[in-house]
Amino acid sequence: MTDKVITRFAPSPTGFLHIGNARTALFNWALAKSMGGDMLLRIEDTDHERSTDEAIAAIISGMDWLGLDYAGEPVYQSKNIDRHTEVAMQLLAEGKAYKCYATPEELTTMREKAKAEGRPMVYDRRWRDRPESDAPAGAPFVVRIKAPTTGEIVVHDKVQGDVTFKAENLDDFVILRSDGTPTYLLAVVVDDHDMGVTHIMRGDDHLVNSARQITIFNAMGWEIPVMAHTPLIHGPDGAKLSKRHGALGVEDYRRMGYLPETIRNYFARLGWAHGDDEIFSSEQFIEWFSFAGLNKGASRIDFAKLENMNAHYIKACDDSRLYELMLALAEELDDQTSLAGLKANKETVIAALPALKTRAKTIVELVKSAEFIYPSRPLQYEDKAKAAIEGESLDILRELQPALERINDWSHDGIDQALRAFAEQKELKFGKVAQPLRAAVTAKNASPGCFDVLLLLGKEESLSRLSETTAV
Ligand code: GLU
Repeated sequence: MTDKVITRFAPSPTGFLHIGNARTALFNWALAKSMGGDMLLRIEDTDHERSTDEAIAAIISGMDWLGLDYAGEPVYQSKNIDRHTEVAMQLLAEGKAYKCYATPEELTTMREKAKAEGRPMVYDRRWRDRPESDAPAGAPFVVRIKAPTTGEIVVHDKVQGDVTFKAENLDDFVILRSDGTPTYLLAVVVDDHDMGVTHIMRGDDHLVNSARQITIFNAMGWEIPVMAHTPLIHGPDGAKLSKRHGALGVEDYRRMGYLPETIRNYFARLGWAHGDDEIFSSEQFIEWFSFAGLNKGASRIDFAKLENMNAHYIKACDDSRLYELMLALAEELDDQTSLAGLKANKETVIAALPALKTRAKTIVELVKSAEFIYPSRPLQYEDKAKAAIEGESLDILRELQPALERINDWSHDGIDQALRAFAEQKELKFGKVAQPLRAAVTAKNASPGCFDVLLLLGKEESLSRLSETTAV
């Protein structure tokens, strides 16, 4: 029997869930599910200053919003420090690691020399074979691993193929700091081993770390997990995604009104392909996921494409769920006017959604487009709406008012007949009547069509708004 596949997502809490990390989580999730395994969540919270409760909550709520489930409870790396230390001590006892007493001054000299010679700093292993008795009594030390000094370390990467590092370029790195705390490189290996991780998938900025971590796996005689390093996400200009590109955190996308299924689909597609498929469900993604589909190069985010995909998912979304998403967003953005309006007009909003959702690219736009249902009174006209009800159009609306009042059957047909009869009688084109009417009743530049609006609002509300307009 083969072992169950265990992947993990191991973010450091930095205050938000970076979209690039979220995509790493997405890939790990799909990989685990595609192989009948589990993804685990490990919060790498050993940096106490940054690892606040809010920062951790941002990761967990981001995962939750994206619908990326993990098995069991999150593992907190900070709780495993004793175990990390124990492994370091074991390596020390077995002669696979050693105490290094090099002083900060010595290290600075080494660094400066490397810099002058134009090469990266490599610790020169001066304590590797030196007896501890050489060290001044009570002097501080770090623990370094004995890395191979010759030959190559190969990362068998599922995305890039074999990536080879010369041993001479990877020094005896520190596994325990002078204050006795384990380093990140050690903690990750110990946790991955103890959590039974079979597959490590993370950003390709971790490739060198992988080469180093392989040394620890080997020193402990532990099996090296399957490794896959995914290229990073770049901004539209080809530079590594950063704040200046705008949205960086998953919550930014949520606040901009993206649906979680859009984010899953778009960002999966951004770094991975299944033929030419652009739109796919999470079930399909899981079914189709394989390392072979992962891109080898970085991909550029295209916000227009992302919006178009969101428009697609908004159209496909069930109206009552959309309504809930609108409420949640108004609440998150502290948009009290929309929140109150949405709550007080639930049925009308849901009834309006089939028309509204064909035009919206984001939930923010959708919330905005529903404003005509609960406008502030007196009506505040948007520019084009105002222009549409001035002059000759205002006269037309004034004359139209009684004709609309006479309608008994406030249905599509009933309204249609009355409007057509009125237009004919006044020898006007239908649009000359319908356009100002729509503008008058909604006060908006854009809204669903005239009939939709009049039917949604009902006779009483429509006429009350119209008389407010014509009373000027
Ligand atoms: N905590 C690391 C990060 O957020 C990831 C560590 C790993 O995946 O091994 O970049």
